[in-house]
Amino acid sequence: MNKLKFIFTLSIDQSTKIMIVLIQLVYSLVYNSTGKLIRFCRNYILSSIFFFSLFFGFQLFAKSKIVFQADTSKKCHYQSLLSKPNVFTGVLDSLKKIDKLNRKNRSLKEVKLAYESILEQQKGFINSRMFLFDTLIYPFANSILENIKAANSKYDLFNHVVISRSRIPNAYCYGNGVIVINLGILSFLKNEDQLAALIGHEYAHHVMQHMEKGIEYKKAHYQDKETKKKLRKINRTEIAQNANYEQFELENAMVYRAQNRALERQADSLGFELLKKTDYSKKAALDLLRLLDSCDLEKYNYKLDYSQIFSNGEYEFNSKLLLDKAGMELEEKQDQSIIDALKTHPDCKERIENINNLFNSNEEKPSPSERDISSIGKISDYEMLFSDIENKRFALCIKNALLFQKEEKDKILEVLIANCLAELYFAQKNHLLWNYIPHPSDDYIYNYHQLLVIIENIRLSELKKLTLAYIEKVNSDIGQNTMDCGGVDTPEIRTVN
Ligand SMILES: [Zn+2]
Repeated sequence: MNKLKFIFTLSIDQSTKIMIVLIQLVYSLVYNSTGKLIRFCRNYILSSIFFFSLFFGFQLFAKSKIVFQADTSKKCHYQSLLSKPNVFTGVLDSLKKIDKLNRKNRSLKEVKLAYESILEQQKGFINSRMFLFDTLIYPFANSILENIKAANSKYDLFNHVVISRSRIPNAYCYGNGVIVINLGILSFLKNEDQLAALIGHEYAHHVMQHMEKGIEYKKAHYQDKETKKKLRKINRTEIAQNANYEQFELENAMVYRAQNRALERQADSLGFELLKKTDYSKKAALDLLRLLDSCDLEKYNYKLDYSQIFSNGEYEFNSKLLLDKAGMELEEKQDQSIIDALKTHPDCKERIENINNLFNSNEEKPSPSERDISSIGKISDYEMLFSDIENKRFALCIKNALLFQKEEKDKILEVLIANCLAELYFAQKNHLLWNYIPHPSDDYIYNYHQLLVIIENIRLSELKKLTLAYIEKVNSDIGQNTMDCGGVDTPEIRTVN
């Protein structure tokens, strides 16, 4: 699907009508050689038929050609990694490096697997439409990295920031120096200093070679006598071998988690030292962790009232559609998947305490420059919606656009929602619905879970009515302010039937 698939019909406005009448008059007068009234009238009628059929012919043609562009500045900025040869080479080099390390450690199955998963992930990045190389966020993030590197010239390493279109509020660094910042975390940042603190922390991971250390640690752990002894014991047992193996893996995960925490603390400390040498506010390192601690909540934290949202015009939303399979109303919950993802950056409170200790008590806390970057947050929100649509995550796009709409009154959001509803209708009609949306689960945050329940409950004919009513509302909203949609009167979604 294109970004915006609205097709508009043209209607003849006043000035066009006047123009056609004038052309006809001139035409009739020129050919009215005898000056007789009957002849004049006949020419006038013939020319009317000619010009109006010409105009309506154009209209039919235009109807299939005109594509809605509400605001061209708010378009998706996706560009392929291949269009950025430097980054592409950087990622390829890292693949070679990881592959070399992998071959060196092939003797140990677990280490081999660890390298292979990193290798697969990075290969996936090259092939997937994952990175955003826009003209604003991407160069901005790299300019911050350059500032940090310029102030800390003793570490002169290859580094590059790429922006991932992922919604998960996270950032990470690969062994090759490619720092990945997800739109999901950019969307939360308030000022440039916080972004600098984030990049400083990831750069510190690279300087201290944490990816390699993590895998070496894994290797050492598996080669440890105690671990080997445990494994041999499990292999010898005949009863409940699987359960014992699961317990063994669980214990390993705890060991890695403890090691991860140690690495995070190290990156926090060095990241703070790096930031200290720059003009950025050191306080931002604390603000950033507080932010990470809170971003398991939605950025736009509202409870969506779907009954009200989907009751439009004549159509009234049936509130029974809100109930789950047991006929119960849903509870409000946070998103488990986001909470799980944040566990890779665990114990924010403990880390805040650590950084607090790094502040010299005699040292005056600098006043933060705090260059506001909330516009970058908003652009991130738009980009994530475009990415949702491109990846056919229509329900997620509807939920997020509805929330975004609470603070950003922009008609393009209504258009996106209408289009996603139409896509869900077509998906259901073609029995493909569950290819595009997950089944409802209370692991999801309330707003998303509730929308999935509605889609699961709703019949095709009902979904059609709901979608058409919503489109009708969008049409009239846009119609009220023609400035917003390029002066076109009647918007029409591609036919829903
Ligand atoms: Zn980290």
